[in-house]
Amino acid sequence: MAMPPLLKILDSEENCVNILRKARFNDSVICPYCLSKKVIKWGSYRKVYQRYRCKDCP
Ligand SMILES: [Zn+2]
Repeated sequence: MAMPPLLKILDSEENCVNILRKARFNDSVICPYCLSKKVIKWGSYRKVYQRYRCKDCP
């Protein structure tokens, strides 16, 4: 029984948001995957979390 790909993506995306949010408290926002600082604001997630998007990751 395989997990639907969409759910996997959403799950990892939520984790990404949480990680980025934590990083923000350290004064700088970095990408948890490539540690790039080229992260831009990317709307909000469920109107609660500030979302970010890494410019280096695909
Ligand atoms: Zn990245």
